[in-house]
Amino acid sequence: MHKGLLFVISAPSGCGKTTILKEVMQRIPALVFSVSHTTRNPRSGEKDKEHYHFVSVDAFMALRDQEPCGFLEWAEVHGNFYGTSVAEVNARCQQGQDVILDIDVQGAEQVRQGALPVTVFIAPPSLEILEQRLRGRGTETEETVSKRLKNARAELAQVDAYEYVIVNDVLEEAVEALCSIIIAERSRQRRDRRGVALQWAEH
Ligand code: 5GP
Repeated sequence: MHKGLLFVISAPSGCGKTTILKEVMQRIPALVFSVSHTTRNPRSGEKDKEHYHFVSVDAFMALRDQEPCGFLEWAEVHGNFYGTSVAEVNARCQQGQDVILDIDVQGAEQVRQGALPVTVFIAPPSLEILEQRLRGRGTETEETVSKRLKNARAELAQVDAYEYVIVNDVLEEAVEALCSIIIAERSRQRRDRRGVALQWAEH
């Protein structure tokens, strides 16, 4: 039975990743989004279990400290904890569904160590445009905007670790680029340079 592919998508916040992913999920069949756990508060309009599993720090740590660890990867981002549940991803992949992980650069590095994900980085056209987009959202405080811009610079420095880079200048083009990557990767014969036809390493 076909085991699902794991797509890791990272982007500094404000790069339009959520909008791109929403559109791509509608266009590509048999693709599921892994709902992460987070300790941050929900933003207006965000629903528990749909956008994130919103949990307390204690609940997050309990899952993290399980033996074996309940997270495929986890990280502290902008002062909050985020993690991908092993159970959720394994169940999806075993069913042959391709799974999208929307995670930061630290998480992407951890996933690379245990699996063979397809990694995609979504970049802003420039840092100036990213700043305008973050302020335009109107949902973030000045402190949060500064924290996210600082983080964006650090994340952009990691771009070379990704197999694909999409610059989100024109939304439709970015959506098409990601759809094309997913379609091409589904047709790929081998996922690693040693020629092993491995898609998803078991934990
Ligand atoms: P936001 O708070 O804006 O939803 O997300 C902030 C950052 O956390 C984004 O870069 C997002 O990709 C990242 N993130 C979301 N879920 C996870 C996760 O499960 N693991 C990791 N490592 N990062 C995550």
